[in-house]
Amino acid sequence: MKYIIALDAGTTSIRAFCYDLAAKRFVHRAQQEVESRFPHPGWVEQDAAEIYFKAAYVVNDCVRAVGAENVAGIGVTNQRETVVAFDAETGEPVCPAIVWQCRRTSAACAALPEEIKRKIKARTGLFADAYFSAPKMRWILENEPAAAALARKGRLRFGTVDAYLIYRFTGNFVTDHTNASRTMLFDLETLQWDGELCRFFGIEEEFLPRPLPSDAVMGTVKLLSREIPIAGAMGDQQAALLGQACLNAGDGKATYGTGLFLLLPTGSRPVFADGLLTTVGGTYAGRTLYALEGSVFHAGSGIQWLRDELGFLENAAESERLARSVADTGGVFFVPAFTGLGAPYWNSEARALLSGITRGTRREHIVRAVLESIAYSARDLAECMAERGGARLTALKCDGGACANDFLMQFQADVLGIAVDRPAERESTALGAAYLCALALGLTDPAEIGRSRVRERLFEPSENREYYDGLYAQYRRAVARAVKE
Ligand code: ADP
Repeated sequence: MKYIIALDAGTTSIRAFCYDLAAKRFVHRAQQEVESRFPHPGWVEQDAAEIYFKAAYVVNDCVRAVGAENVAGIGVTNQRETVVAFDAETGEPVCPAIVWQCRRTSAACAALPEEIKRKIKARTGLFADAYFSAPKMRWILENEPAAAALARKGRLRFGTVDAYLIYRFTGNFVTDHTNASRTMLFDLETLQWDGELCRFFGIEEEFLPRPLPSDAVMGTVKLLSREIPIAGAMGDQQAALLGQACLNAGDGKATYGTGLFLLLPTGSRPVFADGLLTTVGGTYAGRTLYALEGSVFHAGSGIQWLRDELGFLENAAESERLARSVADTGGVFFVPAFTGLGAPYWNSEARALLSGITRGTRREHIVRAVLESIAYSARDLAECMAERGGARLTALKCDGGACANDFLMQFQADVLGIAVDRPAERESTALGAAYLCALALGLTDPAEIGRSRVRERLFEPSENREYYDGLYAQYRRAVARAVKE
């Protein structure tokens, strides 16, 4: 049994990877794109049957590549918060899946009573926002007659993507604690569904999957005539945390993709901080790791804007050469508030701005300012975690497309004043699912995961704290101008 399959059911594609346990690396991968539909402004839907069909396809591809008899198990990681409503008898979805990005329940969330908003924050660690699952479930009950009819017959089921896939593969209706912690119905302390919040949203507990530790064996699936365990499931950001071997308080990871996600483990107790989410970072090896999470909507998308709308770049990688060709931005600051500002500001009316432009400002200065803004955004999150949650980031591991940019990673280390550690294997999410599966099957332990991580490069911070603190203070002044009251 040499291999583990990591299934990564993401928002834009479903991928499966074969992980070689002895060689500690991926040896094969398969991918299928997933279609999103946008039936109204702000709405985002997917077809859960397509998600399942493509997941089965990529998993089969991997099993065939290495031979079913060599596969120890399958670990699952997935886009979080998305809701699939389906019929318990057939497993068929009853309506389109509502994707995490969908804003259709924004007004309903804003109108929730203050007391419920407070309970949501205190018990689930989330804000009353359209991103999370519960308002999507309620919307389905109120607007999809087929779902309401199944609910009356006791056959309706609501799953996040992990729960739906595991149900289709194994027949068991279960989820893991990290996915459950994104629904707005899950009590962070007891690791159980919160009866009062379920009643408030009109959701019977029988509609919901049974929450299990992330490293539970969820069931088995028959593939190429062999029963293979599905062992371990986790939301994508949490899987990346494990994939980066961030196992202890203070050991954070940042993903530099279209947006920026910073997760900071806080230990065995949940920590709450205004403007940030509290989430289950993972329940494995017999313990619960909580985390603070901050997200910034626009990071790499600023680079795409420079390339596609301004025509300043041929490709994203060219941003590094241009940024290095000038000593600094010449006083230019960029605030990436294209669609408002996320954590820690939460200002939806803010819009992006470039400040400090002079007659001498060149394309290179602007490109550099856009890259620097990504690093300042991460410092915003880290400061918020420290000031409002008392949680200090002591080490930062990086992944995501833009972590390939050496200038950005060095500037990040300088602005944060801590070292930034880049791994050799950048597929942290899939790696996390593979590690989790190995944990579930007793094939590894956290200490070995810690030792398995291979660093590609460490970016040490500059000693000149004053200089970088000064730049950050100027960035904060630019943010103040972008924010609309
Ligand atoms: P996502 O998973 O959000 O689609 P990825 O992790 O694939 O994103 O990263 C893609 C993003 O990273 C794009 O926004 C792109 O502009 C940015 N990016 C990719 N390479 C670089 C680079 N060398 N320098 C700066 N940004 C980059």
